[in-house]
Amino acid sequence: QAKRAGKNRYKAFDRLSALKQNRKLKLVDQLHHAISNNELSVVYQPIVRLADGMTVGSEALLRWTNSDNEAISPAEFIPIAEHSGQILDIGYWVLEQACMQCKKWHNEGAPHHAMAINVSSHQLKDPHFTRRLASILTELSLPASFIHLEVTENSAITEDQASVATLHHLAGLGTKLLLDDFGTGYSCLSYLKDLPFHILKIDKSFMPADNTIASTIIAMGHEMNRPIVAEGIETMPCYAHLKALNCQYGQGFLFQKPVPPHQFDTSKRYACITSVLA
Ligand code: C2E
Ligand code: MG
Ligand code: MG
Ligand code: MG
Repeated sequence: QAKRAGKNRYKAFDRLSALKQNRKLKLVDQLHHAISNNELSVVYQPIVRLADGMTVGSEALLRWTNSDNEAISPAEFIPIAEHSGQILDIGYWVLEQACMQCKKWHNEGAPHHAMAINVSSHQLKDPHFTRRLASILTELSLPASFIHLEVTENSAITEDQASVATLHHLAGLGTKLLLDDFGTGYSCLSYLKDLPFHILKIDKSFMPADNTIASTIIAMGHEMNRPIVAEGIETMPCYAHLKALNCQYGQGFLFQKPVPPHQFDTSKRYACITSVLA
């Protein structure tokens, strides 16, 4: 009896993994045409200075609506694109879009707007990465310091010499390096000691920040003179905690969800939020 139940469960598991595999293959197939079919777009979420509510920059976040008209989350398709190697083409496409948008906003009255762009560990392994980014910046006459490259804590980076070299080249170019999802890995301190990260971004899993882990991470950032960005700020109490902990920057649905560029207001000051707390 138990044996048969176990067998059936095993069959069900097999079917489930076959379904998952089919979906992955379908997405890989559809991703091949995603760029040429104009199925990709970039949305932008404001990064806010918590002291006064000013918008200081944005994070570029990729969106994909596939040929079945289904919106696929980057949490699903980025790992698939990494596995298939498509992340390189997609990553360059995002870099170009986000750098062009940043230049556009500089020209349109927000000359200090900083653009945060997510970069996969696979992109850092590409020996042409720094050169290609440099040529995008040169073409746009966009100073590298306005580009903040978000890299996730990942042993694939520290243990890969080429990736570590790329990080140093990028820092040399003048881009700012931002450690994304900070606190979720287990090797956070060694990252900071040996790698040129300028900014730390605390993962949203630590929100609403009324816990010792959040305050410890923020204190650590202060100790190391690294500015801190908190992601996933959804509520006023969360904002208040972060402000009390002297966390400098934040982003989250409390301010604004990610939006297409024409809906983004680069000069927005979230004054209602600060005045309530003042
Ligand atoms: P991430 O870089 O940590 O980005 C933050 C995620 O939190 C985004 O999800 C954003 O929409 C979401 N978020 C922002 N504010 C809030 C909030 O207040 N509450 C909650 N619950 N969520 C919030 P999204 O856009 O779905 O992206 C998921 C992940 O996909 C990103 O996490 C990043 O790792 C990856 N990703 C997105 N775009 C790109 C890209 O262009 N390249 C690469 N390599 N990865 C990307
Ligand atoms: Mg990010
Ligand atoms: Mg993050
Ligand atoms: Mg995160």
